[in-house]
Amino acid sequence: DAASGSSVIRAIPSHDVHRITSGQVVLDLQTAVKELIENALDASATNIAINFRDYGADSFDVVDNGTGIDASNYASVALKHYTSKLSSFSDLSLVRTFGFRGEALSSLCALAKVTIHTATSDQAPVGTILQLGKSGKVESDAGRAARQRGTTITIEGLFKTLPVRRKEFEKNLKREYTKAQNLLQAYALITKGVRWTTTNAPAGGRKTPQFSVNSSSSKNFLSANVSALFGAKVVPTLMPLNLELTFSVARSRSKLLQHPADGDMNQGEEGDATSEDTSTVNVVGLISKPTYGSGRTSSDRQFFYINGRPWEAGRVSRAFNEVYKSFNSHHFPFVIADFRLPTDSYDVNVSPDKRTIFLHEESRLIEKAKEALEELFAPSRATFLVNGAS
Ligand code: ADP
Ligand code: MG
Repeated sequence: DAASGSSVIRAIPSHDVHRITSGQVVLDLQTAVKELIENALDASATNIAINFRDYGADSFDVVDNGTGIDASNYASVALKHYTSKLSSFSDLSLVRTFGFRGEALSSLCALAKVTIHTATSDQAPVGTILQLGKSGKVESDAGRAARQRGTTITIEGLFKTLPVRRKEFEKNLKREYTKAQNLLQAYALITKGVRWTTTNAPAGGRKTPQFSVNSSSSKNFLSANVSALFGAKVVPTLMPLNLELTFSVARSRSKLLQHPADGDMNQGEEGDATSEDTSTVNVVGLISKPTYGSGRTSSDRQFFYINGRPWEAGRVSRAFNEVYKSFNSHHFPFVIADFRLPTDSYDVNVSPDKRTIFLHEESRLIEKAKEALEELFAPSRATFLVNGAS
């Protein structure tokens, strides 16, 4: 009865807990796509296609030519915290792959209908179709269909198990879709030697290409990728970004990358040995020359990365815009900025969606970045004045 029931504390049924925490791992269409792409890259794919139907509201799939999934891993592929990328906790500081927490597929299973079609080189040209259940268990691995080496993962009805989220998703569909496409651009710009293709088929309509790029593997791969993606005319408006930022950092190694749902994330507790150290962060990429301007009146072409991984840079990107604005008040710069942090000397806490990365000493990093940008742009202010005076 409701009256007495209101004061009773009960455990939430575990399948509800799984659904709720999954919604924190996969926040939106963009994070769903990101997880699948990272898996494809981790599997050494050189050809990745992302196909949307009704902008992802109906379904989408990520098709790769990577290693494929070995039959011995079918049963555990989508179980929570099962991963082939990490064998012990101490490995975390050495992680170079994108994945490593074994949560993406398990979360997607709780939020959508997930189907995998995969073949290793031994199995090709015939692949296996795995139908996964809500808990990540394989419901059927009986399907066989032609498949070259690689994996196709299909996600149908994303968020249908979270009705409120689903409604939001449908309401903001075009915006969500644009965010997902921006993320694909971010990958296409930074990867070397990967062929990226993306298509969409609007409801009841035909499949139409969005973009298709062979990311360059040359020395100037960044400008080549910019040219392929946004046109050759953009390249001369950009200048190289090559900043060296040195500042002191507090190192702490425990509780790294822990999922908030698995325990508290308070820093500075026992076992949290901290020490001061200096660290150098190199920022490598391209940025609009202030004198040219980018012609862009919004920050829609700004791509930030940490060690080649797309990063929602937040305060750091605002700092870039602030400095640029003092040299060119009309435009937002085009930015590609990869923050290269040595993996054994920085300390990041990653939110469940792995997109928000909190840097210790972020304020100091921002300070240094602003100084370095001022210095980079300073000669163009001088030119600007000289030209203006003549
Ligand atoms: P994680 O990437 O953290 O390991 P995921 O849930 O994203 O966790 O994936 C679970 C496992 O499934 C991976 O460790 C990998 O072995 C396998 N896997 C997922 N996607 C692919 C893919 N596209 N190609 C090959 N293996 C994959
Ligand atoms: Mg993964």
